Amino acid sequence: MYRISFTRSQQNPDQMSAVRPVARGSDWGHGALQSALDVLLPASCPACGHRPLPVGNVWCTRCDDGLPWRPQAAGPPSVLLDSLRAALDFRAGPTRTLLHHLKYRNRPELAYALGQRCAERFPGPPEGSILLPVPITNPKKRQRGYNQAERFAAGLASVWECPVEEHVLVRRIQHQSLTELDRAARLREARNAFVLADGARNRCSGRSLVLVDDTLTTGATLGACAVALAALRPPFLGGFCAAWAP
Ligand SMILES: [Zn+2]
Repeated sequence: MYRISFTRSQQNPDQMSAVRPVARGSDWGHGALQSALDVLLPASCPACGHRPLPVGNVWCTRCDDGLPWRPQAAGPPSVLLDSLRAALDFRAGPTRTLLHHLKYRNRPELAYALGQRCAERFPGPPEGSILLPVPITNPKKRQRGYNQAERFAAGLASVWECPVEEHVLVRRIQHQSLTELDRAARLREARNAFVLADGARNRCSGRSLVLVDDTLTTGATLGACAVALAALRPPFLGGFCAAWAP
């Protein structure tokens, strides 16, 4: 299984530029064509704009060093989840910009790399757990081309060496994005947002489950997923998000 390591340059630190190598974490689309494009159009750091990034990097080392890891073991408490962690502070360092790019700027490889980075930082879930990315609606997935939570989960899973099941929950179409609603309306809308997919019981009954999402806000989305998953009677149900934006 492909895995990155966040290697550091062997240069004298006094001679280092602002950018030291941080390996690209993508498992997508980096064939010969992409390599040629990297040479012709050197990439810039999506968080700070520093250019050029060494070929194969996803963000610069200065931004990597500035990732605002949350020292607490868990995010906000939830009666529906056995554990809940949000790895980064959304409003500090490069987090907000990285998440914006991986979600809205067609940069799925950033989500994958961030998943790997988080998994290297934090212990994995109980043995035998399945990671369940929070789904997005089918129209949104067609428009975006990918589910950023699935890419983030795939990055986590590549390090933790556990399976990812993308088709356990189905997200019902809502007429308004949850992020556009105030807190009370978001909680109300999220309550009925998810149902179990066909075959979910066969794949996940009796297994420990960890919900995975990019951003934790009120916890309403994970809570709604947890309600839908209750029928599977998981012995452990956790949540892991890239960032916390309370
Ligand atoms: Zn940067």
